Amino acid sequence: MVATILVGMLCAHLLCFSVMFLLIGKRLQGNKMGMDLFALGNLLLGLAYALQLIEGGPAWSVMSVFNHILTLAAPIAYWLGAMRFFGYSFPWWRPLVAFSVAYAAAQVLVQWSLGPVARYAMLSGMAALLFFAMTLTVVYGVRTFAKDLYGEMVFFALLISGICVLNALKLWKLLDGGLEALQMDRNFQMVFYIYMSSLATVLPPSMVWLVLRRLTDELRDVAARDPMTQLRNRRGLTERLQRHFNSRKAMPAHLLILDIDHFKHVNDTYGHPTGDALLCQVAKVLRTTVRSGDLASRIGGEEFVAICLDIDAQEALHLAERLRAAIENQVLCVTGIDHPLRCTITIGMSHPFTGTHAFEEAMRQADEALYRGKTAGRNRVEWALTPA
Ligand code: GH3
Ligand code: MG
Ligand code: MG
Repeated sequence: MVATILVGMLCAHLLCFSVMFLLIGKRLQGNKMGMDLFALGNLLLGLAYALQLIEGGPAWSVMSVFNHILTLAAPIAYWLGAMRFFGYSFPWWRPLVAFSVAYAAAQVLVQWSLGPVARYAMLSGMAALLFFAMTLTVVYGVRTFAKDLYGEMVFFALLISGICVLNALKLWKLLDGGLEALQMDRNFQMVFYIYMSSLATVLPPSMVWLVLRRLTDELRDVAARDPMTQLRNRRGLTERLQRHFNSRKAMPAHLLILDIDHFKHVNDTYGHPTGDALLCQVAKVLRTTVRSGDLASRIGGEEFVAICLDIDAQEALHLAERLRAAIENQVLCVTGIDHPLRCTITIGMSHPFTGTHAFEEAMRQADEALYRGKTAGRNRVEWALTPA
C-alpha cells in the first residue's frame, strides 16, 4: 500500500513537472535551454511508473516491455536536454526511436534465451550504466563547459550517482535472489522509490533554478553591453572595474578615451549605416589590440574607453600609440562606395588610478587630454597634465 502511494506520488510529480518544463520551454526562445527534452524525460519516466503501478510486479507482457524501454529512454532524454542547456545540440527523436526498437528486440531475445531474471537484470544494468555515464558527463562538465555552475554540478553528480548505485544494487539483488527482489513492497524497492521520489521533488526546482540563473546572467550581460559593437557599455565597464579593484592584488589602472576624428563628416558624406560599420570596425580593432584582461568599452556615440590594468604609464602610452596606429592603418570597404574608407582617432590618457571612486576623476583627466589632442590637430595621443 505504502509503495503504491509512493509510486503514485512519484508519477504525479514527474507528470506535473513535465507540463511545467514544457511551459517554461515555450516561454524561452532559441534552444529552449533543453526544457522540452526535460519535459519529455519526465513524461517517459512518469509513464514508466504508471505502467509499473498498473502491473504491480514483474511480468512478461507488452506493457512490461514498454515499461523497460520508457525507463531507459528517460535518462537518455535528460542527458540530451542537459547537453542542450549547455549549448550542445544533438538530434534526439531518431536516436530515441532507434534505441527503443533495438531495446525491444534485445528484451525479446534475452527473455527467450536467458529468462525473465536476465531481462530485469539487463534493465538494472543498463540503467546503472546510463546514470554512470551521466555522472561522468557532469563531472567532466564541472571542469569544462559548466565551470560557472560548480556547486550545482557537484550536487547533481551526487544525486545521479545515487541512482547509479541503487540500480547496481538492484542488479546484484536480482542475480542473488531472483524476481522476488522486485516485488513492490520489498524493503529495497521501498528505499528505491523513496530515493526516486526525493529526486523528483528536488531535481525539477533545481532545473528551474538553473534556467533562472542563466536568464538573469544573460539579462545582466545584455544590460552591460552595447548592442551594436558588443563591447561593454559604461555600466558594464564600471561593474568590471569594481570587480578588478575588489581583487586583492589589483594594481593601478590607466584610462584611455578614444574619439574618432571628424566622424560627423563620415555620417554626413556616406550615411549613418556606413558610420555604424566604421564604429564596429574601430570596436574590433580596439578589442583585438588591447591585452587580454584589459577593458574595452563604447561609452556612447563615437567615443570608446580602454582601461589598461596592471601596467605602468610608459607601457600604457605605448599601448595607446599602438591603438592609434592600428586604427590609422585600417581600411573599411563598404559596398556602394568605390574607395576604401580610413579614419583616425585621438586618444586622451589619464594618470594611474587605484579604485572605482577615482574613475570619474580619471575620465575627467583623459577627457581634458583628449580635448588638447583635438585642438592640437587630432590623430595623436595626449596624456593628462595635472598631477595624479
Ligand atoms: P571630432 O573630430 O571633433 O571628434 O568631430 P566629430 O565629428 O567626430 O564629433 P562630433 O561630436 O561633432 O560628432 C559625433 C557624431 O557621431 C554625431 C553623431 O551623429 C554621430 N553618432 C553618435 N552615435 C552614433 C551612432 O551610433 N551611429 C552613427 N552612425 N553615428 C553616431
Ligand atoms: Mg565625440
Ligand atoms: Mg569625434
